[in-house]
Amino acid sequence: MTVRTRIAPSPTGDPHVGTAYIALFNLCFARQHDGQFILRIEDTDRVRSTAESEQMILDSLRWLGLEWDEGPDVGGPHGPYRQSERGEIYADHARRLIEAGHAFRCYRTSEELDALREARKAAGMHLALKPADLALPEEEQARREREGWPHVVRMKVPASGACVVQDMLRGRIEVDWAQVDAQILLKSDGMPTYHLANVVDDHLMGITHVLRGEEWINSAPKHQLLYEYFGWEMPQLCHMPLLRNPDKSKLSKRKNPTSINYYRRMGYLPQAVTNYLGRMGWSMPDEREKFSLAEMMAHFDIQRVSLGGPVFDLEKLTWLNGLYIREELDDEAFLQALREWAFNEQYVREILPQVRPRVETLADVVPLAGHFFSGLPQIDETSFDAVKLEREDLLKLLQFLVWRFEPLPSWHKEALLAEVKALAGHFGLKMKDFLAPVFIAITGSPSSTSVMDAMAILGSDMTRARLRHAIGVLGGVSKKQAKRFEKEYREL
Ligand code: GLU
Repeated sequence: MTVRTRIAPSPTGDPHVGTAYIALFNLCFARQHDGQFILRIEDTDRVRSTAESEQMILDSLRWLGLEWDEGPDVGGPHGPYRQSERGEIYADHARRLIEAGHAFRCYRTSEELDALREARKAAGMHLALKPADLALPEEEQARREREGWPHVVRMKVPASGACVVQDMLRGRIEVDWAQVDAQILLKSDGMPTYHLANVVDDHLMGITHVLRGEEWINSAPKHQLLYEYFGWEMPQLCHMPLLRNPDKSKLSKRKNPTSINYYRRMGYLPQAVTNYLGRMGWSMPDEREKFSLAEMMAHFDIQRVSLGGPVFDLEKLTWLNGLYIREELDDEAFLQALREWAFNEQYVREILPQVRPRVETLADVVPLAGHFFSGLPQIDETSFDAVKLEREDLLKLLQFLVWRFEPLPSWHKEALLAEVKALAGHFGLKMKDFLAPVFIAITGSPSSTSVMDAMAILGSDMTRARLRHAIGVLGGVSKKQAKRFEKEYREL
């Protein structure tokens, strides 16, 4: 048997460090067994998926040195590798399940579903809807079918009993079937859900081992049942521990930069980031902290993964990055790293239009455009002295901006401007006054190049990190303030 593993990202946002972490472990596992590593794009969510996000994911994984053997960009014998191009395959498999009596067309309306859930709740039962709840009287089912009502396809699931799933790291996992609902497999628009597409593709692509984040454990019983229904052998499952913030909460972009774009822009070296991700829950047999991808592959053993939530600690990563710069780069390599980072024609060209109208000598460029070549600006409380806002309002303004920027699906100047305008209106401030503190947070000085352009160029994670940094130097948002802010923000 050839070992085949995969990473299956959904292209719905910035490339996440968690994706790189799971990709790294899948890659090492495959290489250790002389196997193959596949990249599949799970873009069945047509509303949230974007080509831009897909490209960023491919670019960042490649930047980190995580190469795949098959994928949407390199091809391979099991394509297409983008789920949006495999619609017929899923529809066909859903039909097969219906014909075999393992799935059914469900014509229930959303009002009916709510009522069914209410009824279960009132009866003190688990909220998971079961096939028996959803079944309609035969005539009514026939009528809705005849009249062409919108419907979904759901899988049948047992009403009770225990489902046992084996996990490579966790051993036996037992889940009560009562908690598992009659999962939707095909949505009313005919698109598959994650569960159907994932199982069908893992099988058709010959995946033998699924290493994925622990947030998918609850899906395992449904997946196992689908494999049984199809009569296929299930890949071995391995649920990896989730990355955590130093306070042990789940790593999320609300608190920390999670985009690989951010680490790239901050000037971390790809070798150091990959090495650091390899330290997440795993260690070399001799416990050394610094090792290359090749060394990790050579010594890899999945059983050495420990399940205690690994902490993604920026300070440690920065320390490791420093080691790489000092110990691994000679002058030539350092120069090359700088070129790849920001001292290259493409990036400088992007900045030129910001700078040219504002300088008198070439030497003015460095102080004026420094914020394009730095991490978090050197600011403190006094940097905001000239801003005529109460401290509370100042914090609120910065915090609201972070929140408005967080969910933006794509990052370009017009979209940012729309958010800024909306908030300036809410605060009853002229754009200029609203932007004054933003200016300082982003560029580190009260006047500089256009702050709107700077944010667009710096990207989403770096912009939000600088805004959060400003909130931090202003003393941070207290728990009480956060409550007030959240309430007001919800009412916006
Ligand atoms: N598309 C899923 C994700 O975004 C894949 C999960 C899996 O590996 O099964 O993480």
